[in-house]
Amino acid sequence: MQTPSYILSLINNKCPRCKKGDLFISNKAYAIKNGKNVKMHEKCPVCGQPTEIEVGFYYGTSYVSYALTVAFSGFSFALWFFTIGFNLEDNRIFWWLSLNALVLILLMPPIMRISRSLWISWFVKYDPNWEKNQPKHVERIVPEQMNNW
Ligand SMILES: [Zn+2]
Repeated sequence: MQTPSYILSLINNKCPRCKKGDLFISNKAYAIKNGKNVKMHEKCPVCGQPTEIEVGFYYGTSYVSYALTVAFSGFSFALWFFTIGFNLEDNRIFWWLSLNALVLILLMPPIMRISRSLWISWFVKYDPNWEKNQPKHVERIVPEQMNNW
């Protein structure tokens, strides 16, 4: 059997261990009321992999979303530079700044979700025999502290 694509499972927010189960309860990135779009399953509904493997596990995702944001801004700067261009005598740079900021704000919900998918994929590896093997046991989990980000 072919290994499911890493990029596709990131974009679709799939569990990194089986690449079948959903990490998030809602599949709507923009269901932001009450933070519903970032509520995660406690365990992968398909293979049972816990989605929170340590206390405060997703704290580090702020660095991931920061890096994604900077990468996006670099990309949009280059795109603007080669299409519209910048000039010191007009305010095109402020147009780029404002539009880039606006797009980043609009992209925040999917960026937050992809950051978590990326983060957990660095700690939980794909297991081709996920049906037979048990997920690794997680220690030091404080149930009251889960999903409180
Ligand atoms: Zn899974």
